Amino acid sequence: MTSFASKVFCRVESVCRHLPVFLNTFLVFSITGEVSYLVLVEAPLEEDQQKTVWSSRWKAVHLLAQYFMLVNICWNAMLFLRTNPSIKGVFLGGEGMGQGWRYCYTCETHTPPRCSHCYDCKVCVLRRDHHCVFFGQCVGFRNYRYFICCLLFMWSGLLYATLMNAEVFIVILKEGVTVHSVLLLLIPWIMLVSGQVSARAFAFAFIADTCVVGFLLVSAFFFFHLFLMIRGQTTREWYSTRRPYSLGLLGNLRNSLGVRWYLCWLCPLIPSPLPGDGIHFQVTGSLEPSR
Ligand SMILES: [Zn+2]
Ligand SMILES: [Zn+2]
Repeated sequence: MTSFASKVFCRVESVCRHLPVFLNTFLVFSITGEVSYLVLVEAPLEEDQQKTVWSSRWKAVHLLAQYFMLVNICWNAMLFLRTNPSIKGVFLGGEGMGQGWRYCYTCETHTPPRCSHCYDCKVCVLRRDHHCVFFGQCVGFRNYRYFICCLLFMWSGLLYATLMNAEVFIVILKEGVTVHSVLLLLIPWIMLVSGQVSARAFAFAFIADTCVVGFLLVSAFFFFHLFLMIRGQTTREWYSTRRPYSLGLLGNLRNSLGVRWYLCWLCPLIPSPLPGDGIHFQVTGSLEPSR
């Protein structure tokens, strides 16, 4: 019975751990599908409305831009998940007593500067930034590029989808700001369940809402991490106000995105080797908190 219970618990834990990834994938594909539909059919416009006529070339440009962003989001996310940021399989060298080195009692090894233990991943991660709950994996030295590029394309994709969905808001609010239209935008699920709106109106309102909320959330994450990358800090170092590893703007970009930092964001296949090894870092400032 105990072994059955522990098996069930392990299965539930595994599903819960992967749930955000499934949910995000579902939302990304739903939003892309809806925006493609808006481009191809211009669905939210009503029958009697004058339809905006888009040339087929203009539609193709829109679809290409959408799928370019979608492929980049999925590819970067996949490479992020497949790139192991931990110390597993990494030769850390024998210099365990150097400046900034610490001992991890859980992993039972000396760990280099900027490395820290993640209690979710149950391992030490090189230049650990934070544990990303949306991916269920740590952001560290080796997968940082994929993380920030995925955020960049999620941000640009959601900005695009929000602008495209502006028409949906206009159609919903066309009759004026009525209780019905406001409730449809604020609580589409309840309006659907209570039979107040059709499934089609619900789907458009839900996606339009998701775009706006997602855009605000992703904007906050993206600009925060962009700010940290430019400052040469990890999230942990930002908490303690330390900036001892900053190498200036270009140096920080190279250290985070690799030697082809100016190009690598275009496609995850563009090779951009990182200049360091994730173990040794050039110290340019005080290791003590500046506050
Ligand atoms: Zn550890
Ligand atoms: Zn982690």
